[in-house]
Formats: sequence, C-alpha cells, structure tokens
Amino acid sequence: MKDHMKALIKEGRTQGFSLNEVEVPRDLGPNDVLVKVLRASICGTDVHIFSWDEWSQKRIKPPQIVGHEFFGEVVDIGNNVSSVAIGDAVTAETHIPCGKCLQCRTGRMHICKDLKILGVDIDGVFAEYVRVPEVVLWKLDPSIPKDFASVMEPFGNAVHSCAPFDMRGMRVLITGAGPIGAFSVGLSKLYGASLVIVTELNETRKNLARKMGADIVLDPRQNDVLSSVLRLTDGDGADILLEMSGNESALIQGLSCLTNGGIASILGVYPSSVTMDINSLLTFKGITLYAITGRKMFETWQTSSALLRHNRIDITPVITHVFPFEKWQDAMQTMMSGDSGKIILNLE
Ligand SMILES: [Zn+2]
Ligand SMILES: [Zn+2]
Repeated sequence: MKDHMKALIKEGRTQGFSLNEVEVPRDLGPNDVLVKVLRASICGTDVHIFSWDEWSQKRIKPPQIVGHEFFGEVVDIGNNVSSVAIGDAVTAETHIPCGKCLQCRTGRMHICKDLKILGVDIDGVFAEYVRVPEVVLWKLDPSIPKDFASVMEPFGNAVHSCAPFDMRGMRVLITGAGPIGAFSVGLSKLYGASLVIVTELNETRKNLARKMGADIVLDPRQNDVLSSVLRLTDGDGADILLEMSGNESALIQGLSCLTNGGIASILGVYPSSVTMDINSLLTFKGITLYAITGRKMFETWQTSSALLRHNRIDITPVITHVFPFEKWQDAMQTMMSGDSGKIILNLE
C-alpha cells in the first residue's frame, strides 16, 4: 500500500476545500479499520463546511479531511477487530457513539450525548483511505451496487423517518424532495401508502419526486397546498407528514395539512428557531410527533441493506451525478446549484 493519498481538505478557516497529498492513516488503534474509499457522496453538511457558514466556524477545526458518506473495501484492521476482514465491502454509520453514556448503554446509540461525526469531528472520507472505528462499520453484500451503497447514510435517514408507523393505506404528505425526501417517496409507496403528495419548489427535485412515484407534486408558489391536500383526501387532510425540507413555512404548512390524530416525522433541520401555534397545529388536533435524527444503530441499517439487497426499491433516479474524484470542484458546484439529487465522487 502506498504512503500518500489524495484527500479533500478544509485547510484553513475560510471558504473552500483543497485537494492535497497527505499521509495514509496507518497508525491503527486496536479497534480501528482502514478502508479504501471507492465511492463517496456529497451531503448538505459538506456544503456547509465548504461555504464556512456559522455552524462550521463553530464546529470544524481545520485542517481536516471532509466527507462522511461512502462505500469502500477493508484494507487493514486493528488487533481487536473481528467483525470485518480485509477485502470486505463496507459502508459506515457516520455518527460515532461514545459507548459510555446513558443513551449508548440503553440501546440508543444514535442519540449518544457525546457523538462524534465522521468528516466533521474526525477526518472523513473524501480521501483514498479513511480510518474508521469498527463499531460504526456496516458490512454489505457485494450485490448492492456501489453507488447505492455510498448513499446508504441519507437513505437510512428516510428509512428511519418512515419507520415509526404503519403506512398501509395512509395518505402521506412529504414536504421537500431533496434526496431524503425523494427516498421517502419511494419508501412510502413501498410501505403501502395509498396517496403520496409532495411539496417542492425546485424543478429538478419535483422530477425526482415524480420518478420515485409521487402521485401529486405541488409547488407552494403556484398551488394552495392546504386546499389541494384537503381536496385530494376527501376533506380529511393527510394522515402522515414527512417534513424533509428544514423550511419553517413548509413545516407549518405540512402540520396544518394533517388530519386530526395525524402523525408527523420531522427530519428537516431549521436554520433558526421556529415560531408556530402549537395549540392549533398540534395539541388540539392530537398530533403525534416523531423527531428523527440520524439512523437507529443498527435497525435502520439492517432494514436499508435488506431493501437494497433484495431490490425492493430502485433509488437510481435519486443519484443524478457521478464525478471522478479529480472533478470535485464541478461536483461541489453542481451540488450548490440545487439542481441535483445525490452527487457521487468515484475514487476508483
Ligand atoms: Zn450525510
Ligand atoms: Zn454515548
């Protein structure tokens, strides 16, 4: 194995990344695994770090290799590692739990109080090799396509958001058809929803939603969303809301479209505090709210890989671009244009 590798790095406390030659992380701890990265996909988080917004200024300590969604092959293992072997196809949960806090010790590692994030708190996957702790690695059946495997982290967000309730026969409203919203469209159909309505502003993303099986796509600038949803649901409103946009007005509009006794999964992350009328939107309607963060370790991963392994859902439409690693600048630009689904970097 070579000593040096190409890596995309946040070098200083300014906007941008740079592609540098750095040392391959060879000093494996007893529980570490070295993975050769074959695919990596770009996440909204990477855009935040690239643009050096307020959140990343507080959180990121440059220099740091960025990126967290990936697929690769195990090339070396620490002395204590036993769950994977050299040559295994893997991806990983990107949230690294401490293993010691109350949540970790009671089977809820995904809400660990001392969570570290790959490519945010430790060196990430936009590199030829990455060192990952064994606890978060997820072994994959080689029949899962590499591109699919590299987006299993955001796919898992959708799987987790749809998990808490039975969707059979339900009328589902999905606000926001970015990649996770688009995955959720396909999952809702798969899980037996009778009607899937999507709200979205961006044309590319409206098409993603349609390709993933949305029955109706509404543009809140052109349609009165509430009256459309009421009309489509015989005056009832939606049974389930999946809020995937992180947009305050979409959240409020989505909740106002729910029928009494409806259920909402909220995955969107809002740039600032949200002000809403809890009495009329939640309490008096008896709404059940699920706040979704990350993926359950590892129920979500089990479900996600089983669905992909047995071809229960085709996520091809959500993967809109694949760039060679060297073309990372074009990839970032396309990502920031908003006219894309998932964008993958090919490191092979
Ligand atoms: Zn991500
Ligand atoms: Zn913990």
